[in-house]
Amino acid sequence: MRKVAIYGKGGIGKSTTTQNTVGGLVEMGRNVMVVGCDPKADSTRLLLGGLAQKSVLDTLREEGEDVELDDIRLKGFKTSWCVESGGPEPGVGCAGRGIITSINMLESLGAYEEEQNLDYVFYDVLGDVVCGGFAMPIRDGKAEEIYIVCSGEMMAMYAANNICKGILKYATSGKVRLGGLICNSRNVDNEKEMIAELARKIGTQMIYFVPRDNDVQRAEINRKTVIEWKPDAPQADHYRNLARAIDENKMFVIPKPLEIEELEKLLLDYGLLEVA
Ligand code: ADP
Ligand code: MG
Repeated sequence: MRKVAIYGKGGIGKSTTTQNTVGGLVEMGRNVMVVGCDPKADSTRLLLGGLAQKSVLDTLREEGEDVELDDIRLKGFKTSWCVESGGPEPGVGCAGRGIITSINMLESLGAYEEEQNLDYVFYDVLGDVVCGGFAMPIRDGKAEEIYIVCSGEMMAMYAANNICKGILKYATSGKVRLGGLICNSRNVDNEKEMIAELARKIGTQMIYFVPRDNDVQRAEINRKTVIEWKPDAPQADHYRNLARAIDENKMFVIPKPLEIEELEKLLLDYGLLEVA
């Protein structure tokens, strides 16, 4: 079973990209479990067709310790399973704890056992700084393969670089590796070239360039992944390509984060280039 985590700045498109990519993987026949690690609990609604998923923490709060796997894991699109870790009540406690509790719960209920036949688990992790609880999937070896969603916007690149620092911290002592940057386009000038270059400097690859397309929103309004809602849309093919790229990926590295000056130079070099 491949243990994948998706990181990136808030709002960059982690949940959207994760679910749409999982749509591509299940179409290829893979068995995938998605674990949402965001108190918003919106990591699985497209795979579930909008079905309300009770989070692990809410289930624990309401039903005590007497929880079964089917209480916290729902069947989603094709061969996907969906879990939302949930979070503490706003303003109380550490949101990262939800992830720890949920993964432990899933483990003790056998969600990762051989007989589940999982090919992948995807953790969709909140936050741009790999701190405290949010580093947990990496820190404890729950996730071994990281993809960072970013765009050519400065803060997204800055966050990606920061996440690399987090990965580096745990990679030297553990198995976690960076599998690549996923560029989720914001239509920034020279974006594709710039992110490919950022990836190269970090020692990784831009595994795929996902164009910005309103079909993503249209599918979202219909509570579906693009692949399910409009299988012949060009954007559906992009997500299929990304799914295949991840499925075939062999490049797993310990990242080399950039110094801030280097990052700014990259932005200057590409941002000021004439648009072809
Ligand atoms: P995150 O999980 O990183 O916080 P989301 O996945 O919730 O971000 O994405 C934020 C918004 O961006 C969503 O409403 C989604 O529809 C939109 N979005 C993401 N990727 C694309 C894309 N490639 N094209 C158009 N809209 C996108
Ligand atoms: Mg999200």
